[in-house]
Amino acid sequence: MKYYDQHLHTFLSFDSQEIFENYLLNNPAYFVATDHFDLHNPGDNFHDDIPDYEKLTQKIHELEANSPTTFFKGVEIGVVPGQEKQINDYLAQNPYDLKLLSIHQNGKFDYIDDVVLKKDKYDVAKMYFDQMSKVLGTFDNAQILTHFEYGLRRLDFTPQELEEHFEKELTQILKKVIQKEMALELNAKSFGYYQNANLYRYVIPLYKSLGGKFFTLGSDAHQSEDYQALFPEMAGLLKEFGVNFWLPSKKRPLSYRIALKLIKAGSRNFLLFYLSSIFSSSIFSGSTMSFSAASFCASLNTFSFSSLYSL
Ligand SMILES: [Zn+2]
Ligand SMILES: [Zn+2]
Repeated sequence: MKYYDQHLHTFLSFDSQEIFENYLLNNPAYFVATDHFDLHNPGDNFHDDIPDYEKLTQKIHELEANSPTTFFKGVEIGVVPGQEKQINDYLAQNPYDLKLLSIHQNGKFDYIDDVVLKKDKYDVAKMYFDQMSKVLGTFDNAQILTHFEYGLRRLDFTPQELEEHFEKELTQILKKVIQKEMALELNAKSFGYYQNANLYRYVIPLYKSLGGKFFTLGSDAHQSEDYQALFPEMAGLLKEFGVNFWLPSKKRPLSYRIALKLIKAGSRNFLLFYLSSIFSSSIFSGSTMSFSAASFCASLNTFSFSSLYSL
């Protein structure tokens, strides 16, 4: 099975210097950079961090001419309640193929700032999850919820504590993700630097039990060495939970524009790199494909049944 990195940064982010060309040494079939969009960002002296859309467009145009890679425009959008209109207005003028939703800060501090160490960890986590839930209710312009545990990264939480204190909040959040047909990201920084894989062990089955189907993998690289970092580990965790193959979605988060682009590019794999467990039981038990999977394949002639098998 082929995974694609759907979360990485370049010099168009305030906190990365990396150039596109270094990532492209990996010869990816598809490439999407998701640079930071954070208004009034406490992590950057309260600047409005907005990736230069013209530069991105120019760069992609230039690279496309000399590369077999298919490029998409991506962005990682940090949202603080109250900013929704400004962000939506910006996105209407500057369209992206792939939009990640992140909660990084609350207008006063970034959730990974030292300031959180002086606060009660349950208060910080409650504030963070409440903000995430609120934003999922008021902001409808993203396809993937990134690093769900960002706000816990400087705090010491066990899966048991999450279950005991925040199951209600997380259930609410995940239901909104599902209702919006967004995907849940597995983030390599959570797995590596912040050692939070165990928190995903709690959240993945919770998400699945509520009907969640879409997962993505993101390295969150800020330098090209970290491209697709920890993908085997993250894919392994999904496999543990019975997420055995990927299936691109006809609906959101696979946007129409992306689908068109891929069909134009003659792709058999279609992009979006979604991992799904929806039909795994029927496929692995050898019984007939479910109706929706069959009709999906029929509707996209180039997508063969065998390519549904993975791992
Ligand atoms: Zn982020
Ligand atoms: Zn990021």
